[in-house]
Amino acid sequence: MATRIRAHDWAGGPLGPIKGWPQSLRTAVEIIVGSGHAMQLAWGAERIVLYNDAYAPMLGERHPVALGRPFRDAWPDVWEEIVPLVDKVFAGETVRFEDMPLVMTRHGYPEETWWNFSYSPVRDEMGAVAGLLNVTVDATPKIRAEHAEAALRDSEARLRDLADTLEQKVAARTAERDRMWDTSPDLMVEASLEGVYQRANPAWRSVLGYEPADVVGSTAADFTHPDDMKLMFGALATVQTDRLPSVNLRFRHRDGSYCWIQWVAAPSAGLIFAIGRDVTVAVDAAKHLRETEEALRQSQKMEAVGQLTGGLAHDFNNLLAGISGSLELMQTRLQQGRFNDVERYMAAAQGASKRAAALTHRLLAFSRRQTLDPRPTDANRLAVDMQEMIQRTVGPAITIEVVGASGVWPALVDPSQLENALLNLCINARDAMPDGGRITVETANKWLDERAARQQGMPEGQYLVLSVTDTGTGMPPEVIEHVFEPFFTTKPLGEGTGLGLSMIYGFAQQSGGQVRIYSEVGNGTTVSIYLPRYYGAVPDESEDALANPLPRSEQGETVLVVDDEPTVRMLVTDVLEDLGYTAIEAGDSVAGLKLLQSDTRIDLLVTDVGLPGGMNGRQMADAARVTRPNLKVLFITGYAENSAVGNGHLAPGMAVMSKPFAVDMLAARIRSLIEASRGMSTIRHSGQPTLDRP
Ligand code: ADP
Ligand code: MG
Repeated sequence: MATRIRAHDWAGGPLGPIKGWPQSLRTAVEIIVGSGHAMQLAWGAERIVLYNDAYAPMLGERHPVALGRPFRDAWPDVWEEIVPLVDKVFAGETVRFEDMPLVMTRHGYPEETWWNFSYSPVRDEMGAVAGLLNVTVDATPKIRAEHAEAALRDSEARLRDLADTLEQKVAARTAERDRMWDTSPDLMVEASLEGVYQRANPAWRSVLGYEPADVVGSTAADFTHPDDMKLMFGALATVQTDRLPSVNLRFRHRDGSYCWIQWVAAPSAGLIFAIGRDVTVAVDAAKHLRETEEALRQSQKMEAVGQLTGGLAHDFNNLLAGISGSLELMQTRLQQGRFNDVERYMAAAQGASKRAAALTHRLLAFSRRQTLDPRPTDANRLAVDMQEMIQRTVGPAITIEVVGASGVWPALVDPSQLENALLNLCINARDAMPDGGRITVETANKWLDERAARQQGMPEGQYLVLSVTDTGTGMPPEVIEHVFEPFFTTKPLGEGTGLGLSMIYGFAQQSGGQVRIYSEVGNGTTVSIYLPRYYGAVPDESEDALANPLPRSEQGETVLVVDDEPTVRMLVTDVLEDLGYTAIEAGDSVAGLKLLQSDTRIDLLVTDVGLPGGMNGRQMADAARVTRPNLKVLFITGYAENSAVGNGHLAPGMAVMSKPFAVDMLAARIRSLIEASRGMSTIRHSGQPTLDRP
């Protein structure tokens, strides 16, 4: 700055050339230029500015043009504020500022700085104030130190506050926990992460009968019921790292009984803290409730079964009375020689037997254990054949339409059961149309792919569908939900048995199919029976044979009858002999097999399934087929022996009939079986392939 001041063109300005400057100005300039402190001088009426090197940065961009300029040009932005102070100095006063903040670029970047100023008057040779000396001291280090100290104090204070609140909180928590620990009705325990109890609260005494001090050192395994052990160890594994939501465990009371404890637990600071509530009362109550409900359901079921059994016993009694009464009367008439009346009693006895047979069938179907005789069946023909009977059953107010799809697949199903089901569906339809309406019986082929099958809950494959649609009341969903339940009926007492649809359901399931209901309230109902497709043609069977008088033996064929019940054996033998067959009898499986393994001529085996002698009828037949592979077999079953004969899936050349049966049916079955074997041997001779099935 000394150089600049010397080089400056002062001559054109108010101060004039340096050599003309008064001594007071020269001295002042020498002081500032020689000082290491930032100093500025404002001289004369124009307050012309001179400054030293230390002061230059304070002027920023205005250095060096500020040199030799009036104060107001060097400091235009603060001049307004400063002018009263400057005036005071020129009036002879000294002015001081402490810690004035100023943003300054001294090291290549703007930074906040603080300054102490003093403005003091400089007098000329006459003693008048001619200039103003501004001495500036950098207060930045001092202020920075102050700030740092203040910040430190501040954070210290805050830390202290924080510590205080934390301490308070922890204290409050601990107090609360201690209070709870002592007064809680719930078990509390602190355990190591391995599950060893370190501390137990007094509730252990009231809930489980143990002194808390005695609990210390034991583990949950010492108290847990053996059946809950696995659950407990699982919970312990969880709580070593995680909160345990809630787990119910049976803990042993000191008296040996068990209490249900609902535990919640969490790991905390290397320990496990657990709270257990005694919920024995609630758990037991729930269990009692369940047991009561179960008992109620059971008693309802028993009552229903009781009603059914009662009703059946009554029906059977009536039927038996009809049969035995007729037989007694027959005996009397025969003794009296009044042969004409015999026929009438016989008819009565037969009628009663048929009704009894129908009743047992219904029951077996309902129990899904009826003996089914699935055969390739043309549903179209079955529906058309049934039409007249349906019409007679439902009355003239209802129109029946049978719509048989053309090219319909044969179904593999017991045709007489299907007839029964169809009739039942039509009776339900009639009941839903008290004022008349229309029943449509339809058939259709349905191919269920995997997805459709899954939706319908059946195996994928091809099905024949027989549907019955009515224009009746329809069913709301809450009725549909229950219709397959046995005994479910919405009909008045005495009118509905609630067995129709449950029987159809059982029958369809047992046949490898399904029943589906579609219904709209007020519009009507469709019930569809899905039956598995039979791959092959429907053989033109016994229909014609049935219509004809009883078929008679043609070649003196021999039939072996095996049954342990002498009356049945006698009856079957009599029928066979009437028809011209030779009958051989055996009373058990051993005797039967002996005959079968001899070289006696046997064209057909008629056998009971349940037999004494160590083998059932099916096993005996299989053993016989080792030496007589083409032996025809007719099983006669009395009850649920379905599984014994193969659940309706019989080997070729085998057939099944359920007891009781009409004599003409038996004759027709025997005839068709023997004829099939006869036809087969003919075909065998000509070397043609054959369908080895009756
Ligand atoms: P039941 O005919 O003896 O009542 P079902 O098992 O045959 O027993 O039928 C059970 C119930 O299903 C009936 O009581 C009736 O409410 C309802 N239902 C069956 N078929 C139909 C139908 N076609 N239309 C309306 N409701 C029906
Ligand atoms: Mg019904």
